[in-house]
Amino acid sequence: MAKEISKSLDIVRRDGEVLSPCFRSPYYPFAVHSGSGALLFDADGNTYIDFSASAGVLNTGMCHPAVVEAVCAQTREMIGYTIGYMYEESAVELAEMLCRIVPGDFTKSVAYGLSGSDAMDGAIKFARKYTGRSHVLSFLTAYHGTTYGAISASAISLNMHRGIGPLLPDLHYFPYPECPRCPWEQSPELCALECLEELQRALRLHLPPEEVAAVLFEPIAGDAGLVVPPIRYVQALKELCQTHGILFVSDEVQQGMGRTGTWTALEHFGVQADIVALGKALASGLPLSALVMRKEIGDSLEHPGHCFTLAGNSVCCRAALATIRIIEEERLLERSRQTGLWIQNRLGEMKRDFPELGETRGLGLSIGQDFLHPGTDIPDRNGCAKICYRCWERGLILTFLGENTLRIQPPLVLSEEQAQSGLDILADSIRDYRAGRIGDEVLEFAKGWS
Ligand code: PMP
Repeated sequence: MAKEISKSLDIVRRDGEVLSPCFRSPYYPFAVHSGSGALLFDADGNTYIDFSASAGVLNTGMCHPAVVEAVCAQTREMIGYTIGYMYEESAVELAEMLCRIVPGDFTKSVAYGLSGSDAMDGAIKFARKYTGRSHVLSFLTAYHGTTYGAISASAISLNMHRGIGPLLPDLHYFPYPECPRCPWEQSPELCALECLEELQRALRLHLPPEEVAAVLFEPIAGDAGLVVPPIRYVQALKELCQTHGILFVSDEVQQGMGRTGTWTALEHFGVQADIVALGKALASGLPLSALVMRKEIGDSLEHPGHCFTLAGNSVCCRAALATIRIIEEERLLERSRQTGLWIQNRLGEMKRDFPELGETRGLGLSIGQDFLHPGTDIPDRNGCAKICYRCWERGLILTFLGENTLRIQPPLVLSEEQAQSGLDILADSIRDYRAGRIGDEVLEFAKGWS
């Protein structure tokens, strides 16, 4: 475990001197240098298995040869020329492809951006413009990004709202369906969807439904701890939207592009969205986001209502086209489902030896593993932090979310052997923690999400 990390530590020190802390949740001093597939190498040459995929970005793994080739070939010919003024084939080809892979038995159109955050801002703008309504429904624990619209629609951390107001008006937050921690103590099969009732009551009592433009929904509440909602809830929410002409926006920034074993996570719930927001994994690590929506919604906003000079950049679009091709050719949707199931089963087996492991949940390779004080339901946040730190020391990149959820979102190309090695490292790290071999000093660094 005592490995050479002097170069990494130097980068961390210099980073602290010149970079604002505004965007980082620190876990451990990992200074990434390079990688291949599901393996990463740090600045000192140490090797790691990647269970994080750059926060759900590297679905095709680090530096997939076909992505690298597409990027290099495009870069040699043209890095980019704004589609704000001119026309360019890669942007058209990708839009055609996105209209094909995103579900929806209607004609679609695409609007590009650079990040998941701007996509969610765009979703709010399109929904308001198209419907002529201003109110937007979101959820407690939602994370939609940090541009003004997206940060206003988020409700997961006071740090996001404190001191930057006024935020976007007419946003409303309702309980996300969290079956394992159901405040009504119901079981998923028998409940009367009490969590939806709060939203319905608002529409009956003080929020005229004909003035509501959209509901912004994460098909898995990602940053809240990878909470999977019950199918019944999502279908009822969609029905409510249809009844009142409210647009259903699926925020697929974290769960889309095959992460859960389907192109979009909403497919698991048998409903279709009016607007789908994609980002993160879309271009395998290059900055690109896309809204894929009903054509009439896409046509409602005029130039320059959602226009970024660099959006739809050719290199990014070529990377995205290569990403889609890889996912299809290497059958990564299937692999995500298979490897995800395999990991969930292995975690289930590990629970015999590790009573600290609480609920396991997820779809495909989007898996949350709760970590508890053994024999209780009490979240062990410090335990999560220490274990992630020790995993890094032992050669596994793992992070945690929410109070106490280990976030397992590896590249979809992860092999079974790599998955096994990663889980072995996790098991060894839990043993270290249990034996008191991970000192409190790591908590100075390992702060995680706040
Ligand atoms: N929506 C969801 C569901 C996300 O998980 C994120 C990023 N964590 C975003 C939006 C924002 O994306 P970005 O960080 O690329 O702006």
